[in-house]
Amino acid sequence: MKVKVPQKIRVGGHNYSIVLNEAIEDEGLKGAHNPRKLTIEINPIRPKEQWGATLIHEFVHAINRVYLNSRLCEDDADSIGQGWYQIFEELGIEFDCSLIEES
Ligand SMILES: [Zn+2]
Repeated sequence: MKVKVPQKIRVGGHNYSIVLNEAIEDEGLKGAHNPRKLTIEINPIRPKEQWGATLIHEFVHAINRVYLNSRLCEDDADSIGQGWYQIFEELGIEFDCSLIEES
């Protein structure tokens, strides 16, 4: 089952925009969570097959900030993101990122 990733997603009371951002390639990032701009960013230079896992990872960062007062470290976010992504794969859930655009 393909799930269309929306351009906006609410995490707690925060409305995040999900956008493509080529500039994060300079920092060697696949994705980014920007709590100031309320964006979840995907590096469009990286292969599309990685985008779903990257999104889940950045969602974990947003959840961490909104619900956990940023208690998780990067390794925690990475492991939880990988765990959720693997479960989504088991459930047959794929992410269709065709609605996401350049910021
Ligand atoms: Zn991260």
